[in-house]
Amino acid sequence: GGPAEIEHLTARIRERHPHVGDKLVRAEEVTKSFGENQVLKGVNLDVHRGEVVVVIGPSGSGKTTLVRTLNHLEPHDGGQIVVNGETIGYRIDGDGRKLPLGDAAMAQQRSNIGMVFQRFNLFPHLSVLENVTLAPVQTKLMTQAEADEYGRELLKRVGMGQHSSKYPHQLSGGQQQRVAIARALAMKPSVMLFDEPTSALDPELVAEVLDVIAGLANDGMTMVIVTHEMRLARDVADWVVFMEEGNVVDTGSPEHIFGPDGCDRVQRFVKHVS
Ligand code: ADP
Repeated sequence: GGPAEIEHLTARIRERHPHVGDKLVRAEEVTKSFGENQVLKGVNLDVHRGEVVVVIGPSGSGKTTLVRTLNHLEPHDGGQIVVNGETIGYRIDGDGRKLPLGDAAMAQQRSNIGMVFQRFNLFPHLSVLENVTLAPVQTKLMTQAEADEYGRELLKRVGMGQHSSKYPHQLSGGQQQRVAIARALAMKPSVMLFDEPTSALDPELVAEVLDVIAGLANDGMTMVIVTHEMRLARDVADWVVFMEEGNVVDTGSPEHIFGPDGCDRVQRFVKHVS
């Protein structure tokens, strides 16, 4: 869109999230190859504080790889990623060389970035509440008592307040995913990344997870969401990013992307998945 549309959009986003502000996530010319296969071909992505960016596109276009590079679960080859003012995965030495961060520094960066996966990966031998409190206690962000209190609050927020002493195997997939979201929130991350959070769920369980994500959006949580779920892109996104073959092909408001002015390629994709 042109400057007028961008201005209008920014106003719209500010209306919904009065605290939308500085750039929280910045990916610049990010490249990534697996062997000969270049799966990210110079991707640029900006996410401002309080914004929800939804990444859509055909299978194999690099969406999952992109979101995994943002917290260095996948190291990128070229370009740079900055989250909350920190260069992810590397530090630059006095001679301008890029040196990989050590494990402790990397863990520190990751603790500020919440991640929710397609498969919930809860710890099977821990209760729901213990799953949520483990990381903040282990990293000394909170005492056990503080983490218990905050964990209960988060479980209520995801509609799981009644289930805090259950174990993962006693829960449905949708309930497990909501616990996984609470677990990611427990570290008080500045941004939440979601990698296809509903694609492992039975269709009737998808809505309860979408509702939780929409609630977080309303509360002003900054999020990057890879999904095939067009409801998220239409109803929750401030910006939609369309990827194809390792590139961002189109980006804009849901109104733009799904509207009559959206590009043909995106319209064909949307018709195909809806
Ligand atoms: P999407 O999320 O859009 O479906 P992905 O990021 O999962 O796309 O995959 C992009 C490309 O990268 C695909 O060709 C896939 O086969 C390849 N790929 C992803 N992860 C790996 C990996 N760990 N090793 C090798 N190739 C991979």
